[in-house]
Amino acid sequence: MKHPSSDHLKALDRAKHLHPFTDYAEYARKGGRIYSRGEGVYVYDTDGHQLLDGMSGLWCTNLGYSQPKIVAAVTEQLERLPYYNSFFGCSNDVAVEMVDALTQITPSHMNHVFFTTSGSEANDTNIRLVHRYFDLIGKPNKKLIVSRENAYHGSTIAAASLGGMSSMHKQFTALPYIHHAQQPYWFELGGERSPDDFGRDAAQAVADMIDELGADNVAAFIAEPVQGAGGVIIPPDTYWPSVQRILDERDVLLISDEVICGFGRTGRWFGCDHFGTQPDLMTFAKGVTNGYQPLGGVVVGDKVGNVLTNQGGEFAHGFTYSGHPVACAAGLATLEIYQELNTPSYVSDDIAPYWARRWSELADHPIVGEARTLGMLGAVELVRDAAARARLDSDGKAAVFCRDAAVDSGLMVRAVRDSIVSAAPLVCTRAEIDLLIDRLVQALDATANHYGINQA
Ligand SMILES: *Cc1c(COP(=O)(O)O)cnc(C)c1O
Repeated sequence: MKHPSSDHLKALDRAKHLHPFTDYAEYARKGGRIYSRGEGVYVYDTDGHQLLDGMSGLWCTNLGYSQPKIVAAVTEQLERLPYYNSFFGCSNDVAVEMVDALTQITPSHMNHVFFTTSGSEANDTNIRLVHRYFDLIGKPNKKLIVSRENAYHGSTIAAASLGGMSSMHKQFTALPYIHHAQQPYWFELGGERSPDDFGRDAAQAVADMIDELGADNVAAFIAEPVQGAGGVIIPPDTYWPSVQRILDERDVLLISDEVICGFGRTGRWFGCDHFGTQPDLMTFAKGVTNGYQPLGGVVVGDKVGNVLTNQGGEFAHGFTYSGHPVACAAGLATLEIYQELNTPSYVSDDIAPYWARRWSELADHPIVGEARTLGMLGAVELVRDAAARARLDSDGKAAVFCRDAAVDSGLMVRAVRDSIVSAAPLVCTRAEIDLLIDRLVQALDATANHYGINQA
């Protein structure tokens, strides 16, 4: 078979392909890279350019691109039972095994699973679940949901409404029963306060919003343990304990969106394990199959799960591909690999401490105002003047310049407003982290040069 040339593919892509989160006029003019091969922690484009994947795809290929066990599980499943549905009293053997495997690693009070094919659908499902729950326990007024500014929970109408990204909200009409409290983003919003004081204030903002709406009307608070797409925003230590107390006092459910923080990213199985929160519901997707198959869902805690299963009545919700056997086969194989490699411990005891050490060195760079990490997540804030937290440019242009420079030097990272973020594969070696840091420093140097910042 003759493969189309790289130039031909690029021209077709520019002409006909509507990409997610892309400026179409700009893409039609400039085009992009087309990736056609992955190996280990590297991806290769159709021109043969190699990129160290500092984003784990889209925060999902935690185990990199060479996992034959997942490939074999998917292939075998396609041959044995490529599809069956989970509606009307049906199930399939791998979906059942997947429920069991998942609930063995989730907190012990979480024992039910609803499958979707994405994180967005899982968050839609969360709304359906909490509304159903409060109806069943006779509190039908509890329907409002509190989320946070600059949160990312997906891109369906409901998930984007839960999200707090103003660029998205400008382009559709959000659901009216979702409200957004301040985010715990110290570098941007903390001002003169210490991180701990600011963390308590940001938690208090959640309390104030619930109280303003009336706790009798608020069903749930949804949040990522660490905001990922929002810019790897790691809350101050005071934040989560205060939020948990505030929710408990007000009988408001906690939905922990673990789509990025789950499966070892923070050095524990889930972000809630790291921060010590007790979620009532938990969203998963992305890393659950190492990105190899589309699978997401909600793990439901006993408080909600027992009411749903004891009270009866149909839950009128679901997807054709809920519990898809091929996606579940990929998920099962992925969870087995995480167990075999002991991924959470490898992250917490071995590679994340090294990552944190190397990443923190970036703070000495003249255009870096803060370098933060948690587990295998990292962010640097780009500034002209660190003490004043003054930015290099408007509209996040400096970060886009830096990201493009990183890609040119063989590293995929992400630009989020004025920061560069990375979520390197959890299987990275020290040598791969060294290479990542080298390439990122090259990009930071190029950015400093571009903005005429003197380098020592
Ligand atoms: C990616 C993401 C989602 C959405 O998942 P999709 O599979 O893209 O629908 C939801 N929540 C968080 C925290 C995410 O990072």
